[in-house]
Amino acid sequence: MTINATLINLYHVCKRECWLHANGINMEHTSDTVYDGKLLHETSYPQRNEKHTELNIEAAYNNISLFGKIDFYDAGQKIIHETKRSDKVEKAHEWQVKFYLWLLKLNGIEEASAILEYPLLRQTDQLRLSAEDIEHLEKTIQSIAQLKESEECPPVINAKVCKSCSYYELCYINE
Ligand code: SF4
Repeated sequence: MTINATLINLYHVCKRECWLHANGINMEHTSDTVYDGKLLHETSYPQRNEKHTELNIEAAYNNISLFGKIDFYDAGQKIIHETKRSDKVEKAHEWQVKFYLWLLKLNGIEEASAILEYPLLRQTDQLRLSAEDIEHLEKTIQSIAQLKESEECPPVINAKVCKSCSYYELCYINE
């Protein structure tokens, strides 16, 4: 089984969304969102592109394969730059980036840090990985593995975030 950064992010937003995505039920504009994020980074921070590389990173934890694709990694400084087009700060973004930091650590890259950027908010958060974060990520991996294997799709959450979710119609089609 493989768990990637997208599932880590979605798990912290909505377990149903995580289950749908994990089971290959994808709505078209999900991939556009990833493209938008890259475009936003490139247009907001053009001067940084030269020293950044794209990094595909893998690790194994408890017989589960972990995978992350870091779009902008500064190997010299050991800094991940992640850009979000969101107009609000979300815990899910933070956990996605901490998952990348954990993957780096599992690959022997210690003391890396991350900069989470919200150009629309003009806000920048600096992140590091603590022992508690690793504990949380280990538990999250186990929970996502169980969720992925479950045949039951979790219930809708009736939250504000549903309005901008790509699964909105699928979730509320009968209402
Ligand atoms: S519409 Fe709401 S309940 Fe459905 S997957 Fe999206 S966030 Fe979850």
